[in-house]
Order: sequence, then structure tokens, then C-alpha cells
Amino acid sequence: MSFVSKFAGLGLVDPLLRALADAGYDAPTPIQSQAIPEVLNGRDLLAAAQTGTGKTAGFVLPILQLLSSRPANRPGTGRPRCLVLTPTRELAAQVHASVLSYGRYLDLPSTVIFGGVNINPQTQALRGRMDIVVATPGRLLDHVGQRNVDLSGVEILVLDEADRMLDMGFIHDIRRILKLLPAKRQNLLFSATFSDQIRRLSAGILSNPVSVEVAARNTASELVEQTVHLVESHQKRDLLSHLIRKHRWEQVLVFTRTKHGANRLADKLSSDGISAAAIHGNKSQAARTKALDQFKTRRIGVLVATDIAARGLDIGQLPQVVNFELPNVPEDYVHRIGRTGRAGSTGSALSLVDAEEMKLLSGIERLIRRPIERVQTEGFEAPRPGAAPSGKPPPQAPSRASRFDRRPAGSGDRRPGPRNGRGGGRPRGGRS
Ligand code: AMP
Repeated sequence: MSFVSKFAGLGLVDPLLRALADAGYDAPTPIQSQAIPEVLNGRDLLAAAQTGTGKTAGFVLPILQLLSSRPANRPGTGRPRCLVLTPTRELAAQVHASVLSYGRYLDLPSTVIFGGVNINPQTQALRGRMDIVVATPGRLLDHVGQRNVDLSGVEILVLDEADRMLDMGFIHDIRRILKLLPAKRQNLLFSATFSDQIRRLSAGILSNPVSVEVAARNTASELVEQTVHLVESHQKRDLLSHLIRKHRWEQVLVFTRTKHGANRLADKLSSDGISAAAIHGNKSQAARTKALDQFKTRRIGVLVATDIAARGLDIGQLPQVVNFELPNVPEDYVHRIGRTGRAGSTGSALSLVDAEEMKLLSGIERLIRRPIERVQTEGFEAPRPGAAPSGKPPPQAPSRASRFDRRPAGSGDRRPGPRNGRGGGRPRGGRS
């Protein structure tokens, strides 16, 4: 089937097909195939899909088509017909970039609203005619308070990454925003995970929704090759520098648990001659945008990020993710590795795990329902059970060394080293 018929088969109109051809897409992703016809039919949607699945086009394309095919009811300035709520500024900016890109041959003005930047240009933009607003909840409410935006004409509401919005404490803001919307509207809710809280939220918002799910719940992407490197915590930074140099990784996204840790690691890598920058919530929006831009254009090779800063980052075909520290919440591991192996490409995710993190590792392996392969590097081996950590006297029981040995059932027979199967010879954290 040709490109045009593959997307046209979903019912998309010519201006959108042209924009998709410009974007160079060959075929719809599974979430797009499932979601687009349902949204075009006016259905509410409950979608289990992570960033990287093509979910943004899955909602932006049919929304553009619906809005362009029907006249606005009482059109006015600052009165959007579609509202997309996202948890982070970065995601808002990326969704808006998709709106502009896919909507380039349609006349549907849009704008993006998020905090951390001067409010005045946003106020100015809202004075124009406005079909689509992409916003983070807090700043949107600021504009509501200043009467810059009127949400009574919203025909379509999208909650993108709803699970993360709840994690970030936006539930009260969301409820306030819902009260400002007309009762009759189409609702689309996207979430990577489905907690009870998400189910309650969706039950209160969605009306007879179609459910679409592209990857089994909490299943790590099959396209991502996952490995664990057990290492003492004080060796982690040297090990990472070593691996980046050894494998000549050119584009690595590294996750740390804290903002301070992100800064320290970026400084250490820089002092080792590896171009790196940190992004996290304490950085100004300008600094975050600059670092992301430099990373995307490969002017810096390593981006060190905290979970919230990295959430939803759209960096095409990222080959390598490193968990410098494991996240406290196992589901965040799945989000993190979702940054690689995106939209059909393979990727690799390496986790550096110290003795204190063995419990977190077990939790992750339980969640993804399989053990993660162990790899090691000469000079950075984790201590064997009963051995002294490097340069230190033998430990008292329970030793740090023995805590390293807390392995999940089924992983004990795995040997460190290169693994067979997928991966295509991509350099990894294994002994080579
Ligand atoms: P998303 O999950 O929406 O963040 O999209 C992830 C990435 O996949 C983005 O870089 C999109 O531009 C890209 N993408 C979306 N749909 C397709 C498609 N049908 N073919 C190829 N790439 C796509």
C-alpha cells in the first residue's frame, strides 16, 4: 500500500496527508491506526500509550480535521475550540510544535501556554483568534484569572500524560479547569499507566469512551535492549565517563534522581572532556530549551535530566538511555526507557545500580515481569558476596557486597557479557 493510502485509509483529508508527507512518515503507528478513526467519529477516547508511540499525531491529526470541517460556534478572540493540557512545559511545546507541523496547510490558529516565562507574550497571543490552546494547568488558570482566555467554547479536551499530571499534583487545577468547560464536548485522555486515581478521573470525564492500548500495561518496549551494571556508588561517575568514551556514545540521555545530582554529574562529565548539560526544574525555561536544542542538534552529547524535566521529551530515535540512579517508582523506569527505541527504532537502556538500589531493581523487574540482563566492565565490577568493597576493609554483616547479590528469581544463571539476539552489534555497557 502506498504512503498516501495508508494514512488516507484512516479518513484523513488532503491538507493533513500533505503535512504528513512533509514530515516523512511512511505509515501510521498502531496508536494512530486505532485512535484516529475513533476521534474522527467524535468518540471519547481512553488511550494507554507512552511518549514515543506517535500518540501526539494520534490526537492532533483528527482534532485538526474535526475543527477544520465544522464552523466555530460563536468564534471570538481568546476562545479556543480545543484545549490540550499537558504536565510539563516541554511537552506543551512539543505538542504545539506538532499542531503547527501537521496543521501547516489548514487555517487553525493555535498557541501554547506554560509557566516559567513572561506571561505578556502569551496574553498578547490570546488576543487573537484561537482554535487550539496547548497549556500546562497552572499558567492556564493564571490566564483565566486575568480573563485572557474564555474556555466556554471548548469542543474537544485532551488530557495528555494524565498520570503524570496527577503525580505532579495537578488534580485540583484540572478540576477547576473542567468546571470552566461546556458540559457537551469530546474528551481524550492519554496515560502511560492506569492507577485507580486515573480510572476515577477518566470515569468522571469520559463518556462511553473507546479504549485503545498499544503496549501491554506497564510492559517495557520490546525494542529497547535493557541491561543492568552493578557498581559501587562512588564509581558510578567514572564508570559513566568510561562507557561513553569507550563506546563512543554520541547522544545519551542520563537520568538522575535529584537536581543536584544532575548538576554534579554534568559538571563531572564536562571536566572529563565530554560535552554535557543538565536540565531540571530549577533551570530557567531558556536554559532548558537551550540545552535540549543543543542535545537534539548534537552540539552536546550528554543530557542529564531528572524525571520530571525529561518527561515527554521528544528526541527522535534516541539510541542510548542511562539510568545513573534507579527511580523510586518502578513505573518511572518504564517511562525513562521509553525515551529510546521510539517509533520503530531499536534503543538501549543501561542502568547503573549500587547496593542500595537492589530493592528498587527487584521492584522494576517485578513490574516488567522479567529479569534484566547484568553486564559488567573491567575495573568497575561490583564486589562479589563476601568480598571487601574496593579500597575498604571487609564489611560487617550484613555486608554491602552480599546485598548486591539480591537477585530476582530467574536471573541467577545469567552471565555478564554480550547478549545474543537483538541489538545489531550496538556498543553496550558489557565487557567487550
Ligand atoms: P510521540 O509519541 O507523539 O511523542 O511521537 C514520537 C515520535 O514519533 C515523534 O518524533 C514523531 O514525530 C514521530 N512519529 C509520529 N508518528 C509517526 C509515524 N507515523 N511515522 C514515523 N514517525 C512518527
